[in-house]
Amino acid sequence: MSLDEYREFHRRSVEEREEFWEGEARRIDWHRPFERVLDYSEPPFSRWFVGGELNLCHNMLDRHLEERGEQDALVYHSSETEEKHAYTYREVHREVNALAAALREIGVGKGDRVVIYLPMTPKAVFSMMACVRLGAIHSVVFGGFAAGSLAKRIDDARPKAMITADAGMRGGNVVRYKPLVDEALNSATHPPEHVVILNRNLDREMSLTEGRDLDYAQLVDRHRGASVPCEWVESSHPSYILYTSGTTGTPKGVQRDTGGYAVALAASMDHIFDTQAGETFFCASDVGWVVGHSYIVYAPLLCGMTTLVYEGLPVRPDAGVWWRLVEEHGVSTMFTSPTAIRALKKHDPRFMQEPDTSTLRKLFLAGEPLDEPTSRWASESLGVSVRDNYWQTETGWPILSSMNPGLEDEPVVAGSAGFPCAGYDLRLMHEETGRPVTEPGERGILAIQAPLPPGCMSTVWGDDERFVQTYFGDFPGGELYSTFDWATRSEDGRYFIMGRSDDVINVAGHRLGTREIEEAISSHPDVAEVAAVGVKDEYKGQEVFAYVIAKTTEEAGPELEEAVKRTVSQKLGKIARPKRVFFVEALPKTRSGKMLRRSIQALAESRDPGDLSTLEDPQALESLKATTPID
Ligand code: ATP
Ligand code: MG
Repeated sequence: MSLDEYREFHRRSVEEREEFWEGEARRIDWHRPFERVLDYSEPPFSRWFVGGELNLCHNMLDRHLEERGEQDALVYHSSETEEKHAYTYREVHREVNALAAALREIGVGKGDRVVIYLPMTPKAVFSMMACVRLGAIHSVVFGGFAAGSLAKRIDDARPKAMITADAGMRGGNVVRYKPLVDEALNSATHPPEHVVILNRNLDREMSLTEGRDLDYAQLVDRHRGASVPCEWVESSHPSYILYTSGTTGTPKGVQRDTGGYAVALAASMDHIFDTQAGETFFCASDVGWVVGHSYIVYAPLLCGMTTLVYEGLPVRPDAGVWWRLVEEHGVSTMFTSPTAIRALKKHDPRFMQEPDTSTLRKLFLAGEPLDEPTSRWASESLGVSVRDNYWQTETGWPILSSMNPGLEDEPVVAGSAGFPCAGYDLRLMHEETGRPVTEPGERGILAIQAPLPPGCMSTVWGDDERFVQTYFGDFPGGELYSTFDWATRSEDGRYFIMGRSDDVINVAGHRLGTREIEEAISSHPDVAEVAAVGVKDEYKGQEVFAYVIAKTTEEAGPELEEAVKRTVSQKLGKIARPKRVFFVEALPKTRSGKMLRRSIQALAESRDPGDLSTLEDPQALESLKATTPID
């Protein structure tokens, strides 16, 4: 396909929406065929594949057994515990059946919620699959989240059961989960009746509550050999609840359907990730995030691939660990975040070059803006094509991608996340006038014309009103979903994400994207990382403050400060020149690797830093306070 043919393919996906998705739906096994492709009778809500009945677990396991029973479905590697294990499709099927039988025994059935709070172990994947097998709705909470955040999610879901572990590990240190779980359960208003605990023997002092706490291994052992039929659910039956990263405020509970999600993921593996059944997919993320849900668990198994599940950091025991796994398991496609690649970039590229990674065709990155130097470094060190893709927890799969059918040989344009993926009818909206932006290069808010394509959120869990108001309240007509991201579009239709609309810096009426300022600053060779925020100013409305991590501490000084300011002036004009530059040792990020600019800004304006429930390292914010006294 050529670019023109892709445009035609994309046009068809939005203008002849129902025919297009009816075709894609053939990728999935339906127990009962759907009656209608789309019900959009209550805008902005959309229901896909109405009346169709299916089961996600059946589509991930049972239907592959005949052809792929002996193929590895899941390969596990933990650089924290040194555990390694491979499970064939047949073995995963057995594990999931036993666990589903155990959950059924403790009362979990169709529509019940199960909170999963586990580290990256195969049991986390089995737990998710056992839930959907029963028609139960999982809510995975990132392992190790603070008790308060866990309690909030428990109360939101009102679960029948919870699955957790004694502990997780991070960077060689044991993180005890059970005390956090107990604390959360004590403060929750709607605690579950039963808690299933995976004992990894990491916390020998773990205490159990009789009657409530059950041992995962014992429970599953009792049901070895059990066979639990798949619960056929209607296409719009919720498969799971998952919270956004909380970068811009309090996390939102996204509700996902079943049929639309299955179809969209299977289509994305073909059109965007260009994978084949039988190949090995390595998504280095965490099951606590949407990337992990979609591309560690659901999509690879829906498509008969082998999924590699990794527990640990990308740089421990050294920066070669991922690439040795690629060699050992013949990984064909990888997916991770720019943040992870930036962590690797601090190490010698020989770590990437020494293992034989010749099976690897493509590296996909998403989650944060992908800067050109990081992209180039990864592509040169690995010798593979690096592909940016842009999406959100809400959408469940990519909105924009530089890989789409026909774009294989199109040059990758630095800084662009690519073209709209099939099914997304995108608009760029002028923030003030609420009208579409027409000029190439002009900035606007990226919006999706409803009905949202299959796989996107159905609603906010338990709060339809919040769904409508939060996402569809910004533009006239009420049928435009706002991504809250700022973007531009080039003449040939490529999109460039410029940062979040909440983070836009307004200096004397000039609106600046955080991304452009940060990119200008990172282009300085002595800068490792930077966050730019807008801080209230009496005269100009806002001023730019830059928080810089220098490559070495010796460089952090007045000279570099001047150089940073000069670089911005030269690249973007005097108006964007930072008023202050602070050198810091760490920057506050969410657990999913996103910069918490709103908290930095709040500190700079002596305000409360807001909801910090998803903050990765509280120390980073503390050290920021200490090193950047604002006068
Ligand atoms: P919250 O919605 O709670 O504030 P969040 O938006 O960070 O948190 P996620 O759904 O995990 O939660 O992240 C989606 C956001 O990540 C996007 O809206 C966008 O701002 C950013 N993002 C994702 N991929 C890319 C990309 N390829 N380039 C630039 N930004 C990206
Ligand atoms: Mg968001």
